[in-house]
Amino acid sequence: MITTRLLPQIINNIFAVIENNAEEVTLLDQVIGDGDHVTNLQRGLKALVLQQEEFIGLSWPNAWQKIGMIMMSSVGGASGSLYATLFMALSKASSETDISFPGFVKAFSEAVEAVKKRGKSEAGEKTLLDVYIPVSDYLSTVVNDEPDLSGILVEVSAVAIKGMESTRNMLATKGRASFLEARSIGHIDAGAKTAQLMICTIVDVLTKALATPA
Ligand code: ADP
Ligand code: MG
Repeated sequence: MITTRLLPQIINNIFAVIENNAEEVTLLDQVIGDGDHVTNLQRGLKALVLQQEEFIGLSWPNAWQKIGMIMMSSVGGASGSLYATLFMALSKASSETDISFPGFVKAFSEAVEAVKKRGKSEAGEKTLLDVYIPVSDYLSTVVNDEPDLSGILVEVSAVAIKGMESTRNMLATKGRASFLEARSIGHIDAGAKTAQLMICTIVDVLTKALATPA
């Protein structure tokens, strides 16, 4: 059973992976954005690290709600409101407290739709959605009541990496990178890179948790 007991570990590992890739991602956001993406995210992640213990014992919908509110008040930039939307919508779309795999997949897909609305953007516009949309689409294709979670997690990482890479040759039509028009082509989107790093980190924690019987 995957519970919010895992959240402190997920939060700390995500904080570390963003820290370890800060220079590389900042360079990406400097080339086609304004260079503040990592600092924006880190403000939110630091707030989550400080409050990590408060997540233990919460239901997933309540934990997602709390994460969304922390993101909203601390992250800033375009990515702040998009991540706040993602987590608030995930919480709102989760009708069950003990979340099943099909229940999660449905809620995640609704949350990604909410981010699309909020950003007025679609797949192929060179944003973090080019990671979240393919992951959500993939999960929807494997949804059933007895999923092979370990196998699915391996594939989620691969889909996230492919989505992140796919932004390199895209023309940016949303966010600051769109101001560069054709010059945005040839660079990976910073928001797609951090989305991929975070997803792969969550996959690692969940994979280890599934391999260790409680
Ligand atoms: P800002 O662009 O305000 O400086 P950040 O640097 O924190 O904010 O985040 C930039 C990232 O946000 C981009 O790399 C892109 O992935 C994502 N982004 C920006 N605008 C949009 C949008 N309209 N829809 C989806 N994602 C977006
Ligand atoms: Mg920026």
